Formats: sequence, structure tokens, C-alpha cells
Amino acid sequence: MYYGSGNYEAFVRPRKPKDVDNKSAYIVGSGLASLTAACYLVRDGQMKGERIHVLEKDPIPGGACDGYEYKSVGYVMRGGREMDNHFEVMWDLMRDIPSIETEGVSVLDEYYWLNRDDPNFSYMRATEKRGQDAHTDGKFALSDNASKQIMKLFFTPDEDLYDKKITDLFDDEVLNSNFWLYWRTMFAFENWHSALEMKLYLKRYIHHVEGLPDFKALRFTKYNQYESMILPMIEYLKSHNVNFMYDCHVVDVKFDISDAKKVAKELIYNSTDGEKSIPLTENDLLFITHGGCVENSSMGSQNTPAEFKTELKAGGGWDLWKRIAANHKDFGNPEKFCSNPELSNWMSATVTTLDDKITPYIKNICKRDPHSGKVVTGGIVTVKDSSWLLSWTFNRQPQFRSQPKGQLVGWVYGLFSDKKGDFVKKTMRECTGKEICMEWLYHLGVPENEIEELAEKSANTVPVMMPYITAFFSPRRIGDRPLVVPKGSVNFAFLGQFAETPRDTIFTTEYSMRTGMEAVYTLLDIERAVPEVWGSTYDVRDLLHSSYALTDGKKLLDTKMSFFQRLALSTVLKKIKGTDLEKLLRRYKLID
Ligand SMILES: Cc1cc2nc3c(=O)[nH]c(=O)nc-3n(C[C@H](O)[C@H](O)[C@H](O)COP(=O)(O)OP(=O)(O)OC[C@H]3O[C@@H](n4cnc5c(N)ncnc54)[C@H](O)[C@@H]3O)c2cc1C
Repeated sequence: MYYGSGNYEAFVRPRKPKDVDNKSAYIVGSGLASLTAACYLVRDGQMKGERIHVLEKDPIPGGACDGYEYKSVGYVMRGGREMDNHFEVMWDLMRDIPSIETEGVSVLDEYYWLNRDDPNFSYMRATEKRGQDAHTDGKFALSDNASKQIMKLFFTPDEDLYDKKITDLFDDEVLNSNFWLYWRTMFAFENWHSALEMKLYLKRYIHHVEGLPDFKALRFTKYNQYESMILPMIEYLKSHNVNFMYDCHVVDVKFDISDAKKVAKELIYNSTDGEKSIPLTENDLLFITHGGCVENSSMGSQNTPAEFKTELKAGGGWDLWKRIAANHKDFGNPEKFCSNPELSNWMSATVTTLDDKITPYIKNICKRDPHSGKVVTGGIVTVKDSSWLLSWTFNRQPQFRSQPKGQLVGWVYGLFSDKKGDFVKKTMRECTGKEICMEWLYHLGVPENEIEELAEKSANTVPVMMPYITAFFSPRRIGDRPLVVPKGSVNFAFLGQFAETPRDTIFTTEYSMRTGMEAVYTLLDIERAVPEVWGSTYDVRDLLHSSYALTDGKKLLDTKMSFFQRLALSTVLKKIKGTDLEKLLRRYKLID
């Protein structure tokens, strides 16, 4: 497996890999990573679908990428996936996955046309004082000292950030800025999370800095991502006769490990008809999604809270990883990520409006008609003075293909599930759906005497607790996550958010898909480049533009600096006079 960029290899069709007709594949999990692996096995590996088996513990596919109507409680989507034009693997694959909406069109076409015709942006990024504009006004509001801390993190080598927390690098000048408000609510970072991950995010999305305050950097699918992404992939795979096994809990994998090579020898799983085992030869490729950000996630309802269940059991992603990791140090260190759910949990709640009484309050904030079928909030709206640190969003409606006309389905989330609310004097995790809705309505500015009735009669709200949702942001070091294909592996690979691949950022759909592609390309030795992570961090134009944006448009010489620093800068500026460098600095407005 090797990386590439540009068009030369992007459009080439690889020839059939050697011996692929003698190989089979077993894939643990049916999340995006696994489905991507299966699609690449079919498309580029040219493996027959009948030889590919997907073992999923849940009754439906998709894992974290959800959006489902549960007959007992209502619509649930645990999140809405903010996406990017430079999800290189995603678009490499989705150009060949047929849409399930429009005949003859790919998922990529559908997404591109939608976002081109109706680009995303927000008129109101944050509110305070019960629905008032918090007037972040598109500014990052970073002091010179805060900008320096961010710059320092950007250039700190990874190894100096191992096991460090964000608060080891940033002080209150960063943490109290608009920048941090935008950042932590958009990406779900907590102050105690990994400084290394923070740096990787900064580098990965440097080209988007200017678009962060109003979300013009983002793109979204038409419906929830289960319907817009998972279902088309499932249809594609089924049309190639891939075998899906649901309610199938993989409990353990046995390996044969020597100095020279590592071979997966046996897969043990529990299904409705008891414990079973699949013997594996070197021609049986095994792809394992280990760990999991929505493991142990639990659903409440309008009138019941979602339970905070943290116990890890056999047949789940974490227990499986622990058993596998016991075999060899190359298989990672799951304890680093799953041992403290108090530091990795948060909650979301799906709100379905049942009549039009709540709509004016939404409209008042997002400044758009939520029923127009177009962008509504344009990304999350953060309630700056909420003790749960609530953010909420309504994407284009309907979000579900079955959604009744007139209803709106949106999503609320809080980063601090253990703090008491401002109106409902309970922690978020103690609240029923109705109570979470009440707290949200309070922050929308609904008169206090109307809140309870609206939450009860005009909405149905389903809370979800996710104890391990940000487990991947735990401070870590190299080796804590196994490589996608560990050294010496002959027939197995790790997939998803807890497999190690360079430069990309976890908690993204792209990361999971990338591991799927890299795993297949490595194990089948496919003769085509995997698209490298978008290289904006190496593009001087993006670096200059982001410096200008992060400092809210400051010129270089307006930055606070010592006499000698100013002298040095002035000398450099004189030296580059009349060169392309001067033109570049002017083009990006860093000098007059
Ligand atoms: C609330 C939320 C918000 C998000 N926001 C964004 C966003 O804004 N932008 C973005 O790009 N991404 C976002 N993501 C992340 C993205 O959705 C996930 O990274 C991605 O879907 C994970 O896919 P995966 O295949 O790696 O893992 P998963 O989806 O977790 O899939 C793993 C699968 O394996 C199964 N499994 C685990 N153990 C076993 C076992 N022992 N036996 C059998 N099956 C097993 C699980 O049931 C699951 O189906 C968000 C996710 C959530 C939950």
C-alpha cells in the first residue's frame, strides 16, 4: 500500500490482484469502516461478493452512523455528520456507489449537487441569555498570546505531545476565546482531551479555518447518514451477493504469532444458535473493528432517561479488543481509551416537533424557514451560557424519508452530562427526553410558563447516552492503537477509529473509511495509490490564509512583539520586497 495524489492514479482501474479468487474475507462489524472494506474488496480487489462475510452484533448495519425510526420511541439520530470536500477516500468510493434515490446517479453526484445548490452556512453560531445572539460575529477573538499557543502546538512534534492534555498546552487565554467555543463544540473536544489529537485536527483542517465560525466549511448529506450513506453501501454490497450476518457477536480471535509472521487462525462468535467458530487459513482475510465510540450507548425515551451503562461485556468491541491485545503488544492498549467513561461520555437527544408551536423559536435563531427543505441552522448553534454546554441543529428537512410532512427532526447535544441544567435542575443524564427538551426550549427563549406544555405535547424527544463517544480523544502515544495492518500480519487488519493511520483525524467518517481502504489495499496488494490525506498543511497558501483568519485579519506588523522581533520582521519584509514572497503575503492580506 502506498499513498498518492492527483489524477493519474485516481482514475486508473487496478488489475485483479493475484490469487484473489482463492481468498475469502471475514469482516467484524458493519460500520462505515467495514462497509468500506467490503466495497473495496468488491470494486478494486475484485473479490466475489459470495466470499465476503460481514459479522455484526447489532440487528441492523451502520454502527455509529445511524438514523432510525424505533417504533417504540420515535426517530433517533445520535449525531449529524459534518463533512468535508477533502474526504478523499470517501469520495473515491462514493463516486461508484449508486444513489438509492435517483437512478443512474452516484452518492457523490447527489451530495455534490445538493451542496452546490444549497451551500451550508450559519447565520447564528452561538446564543446566550435565552435565545439572544451571543455576538461571536465570526471572530475568533484570540489574544496574541493565545495565537502563539496555537501556533506552538501546530509546530510541536507528535512525540512531544504523547499522553499530554490540551490544558497542558493551552491556558485560559485560549480556553476562554471564541476559537475554543467554536472548536470544542464543533468537534466535541473537552479540555482534558489529547493535545496530540488537537494538533492533528489543526493540521488536517487548516484549509477550513476561515469557514469555522459560520460553518461555510461544512457539507451535509440530504438525509441522516444511515439513509444517505449506509443504505446505498448496503444495497451495492447486496447487489454483489455479500453475506451479512446480524446478531452475531464476535467474542475472540485466535492467532498464531512467531517472530516472522502473525496469522489469524480462528474466529469465535455467538449468534442466535449458540457459540460457533470459523477456522481461518492464510487465504482467509480477517478485518476487525475493535473498540467503538457508540459501544454501550443506551436510549431513553420521552419519559425515561437514557441509562449510563459502562460495563464492558464479551461480544462487544472493547472486550474483543482487550482479548486480542493480550496476544501481542502490537495490538494496542485498549485500557488507555475505555477505562474512564466519566471522561469520554456525552449525550445527545433527537427532537421531533409534532406541531408548529416550537418552529417560530427555531426560526427566530436560525433566520431561515425550517420547512423550506433547504439548510436550516447550517450546523450547530451553541448555547454559550448553558451549564450542559448545549448545542443543537436542524439540518435540511425532512431528515428521514418516512418523516411526516410538517414535522421537524433535529438534534441537541451536551458536552457535560454530569452538570445540573439551568432550568431543569437535574444533570442531563438524569433527564427524560421531555426534560432535555424543556432545558433546550428554555435556552431558545420560550416563556417559562409554556415550556413544559410544549415539551410534552409539541415534541417527542429521545435521549441517548454514549459512555465512550470520545474515547478516541483520550491522551495517548504511538503504539496505543494497532496499525491498520500490524507488522508481520499475513491475513488480518484492524479497522475504524482505534486503528492507527498517519495524519488523518479520528471522530470522522473519513478516518473509518480510510482504514477500510488501506486494509484492503495492503492485504490484497492492490496496484493503485490510496489517496493521501489532503495536504493543505503543506500548502503555504492555506497556511498564510489561516494565519490571517485566526487573528481576525491582523497584519503581521500589528502583532504584539518585542523591539528586536519587530526589527527582525521589518528587515525580512524589506529583503523580500519586489519578490513573489511579498506578493504572496499581500495576496493573503498579511501586509499592506
Ligand atoms: C454522535 C456522533 C457524531 C458524529 N459526528 C461526526 C461528524 O460530525 N463528522 C464525521 O465525519 N463523523 C462523525 N461521527 C463519526 C462517524 O460517524 C464514525 O466515526 C463512524 O461512523 C465510525 O465507523 P466505524 O466503522 O469505524 O465504527 P462503528 O460505526 O462503531 O462500527 C463498528 C461496528 O462493529 C460492530 N461490532 C463491534 N464489536 C463487535 C463484535 N464483537 N462483534 C460483532 N460486531 C461488532 C458494532 O456493532 C458496529 O456496528 C460521529 C459519530 C457519532 C456517534
